[in-house]
Amino acid sequence: MPELPEVQALADFLAQRTDGLVVTGVELGSFHVLKTFTPPPDALVGAPVDGVSRHGKFLDLDCGGTHLVFHLARAGWLRWSDAMPATVLRPGKSPIALRVRFDDASGFDLTEAGTQKRLAAYVVNRVEDVPGIVSLGPDPLADEFTQEVFAGILAEHRMQVKGLLRDQSIIAGVGNAYSDEVLHVAKLSPFAIAAKLDAEQVTRLYTALRETLAHAVATASGKPAKELKDAKRAGMRVHGRTGETCPECGDVVREVSFADSSLQYCATCQTGGKPLADRRTSKFLK
Ligand SMILES: [Zn+2]
Repeated sequence: MPELPEVQALADFLAQRTDGLVVTGVELGSFHVLKTFTPPPDALVGAPVDGVSRHGKFLDLDCGGTHLVFHLARAGWLRWSDAMPATVLRPGKSPIALRVRFDDASGFDLTEAGTQKRLAAYVVNRVEDVPGIVSLGPDPLADEFTQEVFAGILAEHRMQVKGLLRDQSIIAGVGNAYSDEVLHVAKLSPFAIAAKLDAEQVTRLYTALRETLAHAVATASGKPAKELKDAKRAGMRVHGRTGETCPECGDVVREVSFADSSLQYCATCQTGGKPLADRRTSKFLK
C-alpha cells in the first residue's frame, strides 16, 4: 500500500506531468470505484489541472475547482502513460478502475490487483466533502506538527503505539509499513502504550517519525510512478523482512500476524530481547 512518502511522490510526479494540461476524458472501469454521484465525472472534462496535492494518503487533482480525489487502498496503483490507448475503458472485469486522459494524449490508469476492491475515487467541489479527508488527523511532516503537539496526542491515547501511528484520524498518512519502520528506529515495542511513554521515549519516537518519513519522501521524490513500489520495498529495514537480519543488531527480524495483516520488529532492538507472543507461530517456536 502506498503511504505518505509514495503518495507525496505521486502527487509531485502528477503535478509536474499535468502542468498546463486539460482533462479530456474520465472513464470508469468499475462502477464501485466512484463514491460520489454529483458532480458527475464529466464535470472534470474540459477543465485545466490547477494543482495536485496530498491529504494523508489521498491524492487530489484540482481541475478548475472540481476535485478528482482518490485513495489507492491496499492493492491500488497509478500507471502513467505518455500515450494512452485510444480504446475507451468500459465497466467490466478489467483491473483498471479509472482512466483519466489529458489533451496531449497522455493520461493515467488507476489499477487494483486482487479481489478485495477498496480503491476509492471521488468527484467533489470541496475536498472536505470526502469523509476520509475531513476526519484526518494532522500531517506528521507539517511545520505545526511539533514534538509538543505529538506528545499531547500520545498522552491522550491509552492504546498501542503501532495502532496509534496507523490510525488516520490521529495521524495522517502512516500505514503498516512505515509504522514498523518508525518503531524500529525509535527502538520501541509496537505494543507499548502511547500514554505511558516517558519523555525520552516520546522524543525518540517523534524524531524517528519525522526523520523516517522525511528520508522516505526524499528518496521517493522525483521517481517515476512505476519505480515507487520497488523503491519503497528496498528501503525497508524490518517491514516485510521476517526471517532476515536486523540491520542494527544482527538479530533475526520477527513477525506478529493478525487476521489480515502482520507486523515486523526486532526483539533485541525493540522489546528487550523478548519475542512478542504470536498465536500463529508460537507453536513452532517451542
Ligand atoms: Zn535489531
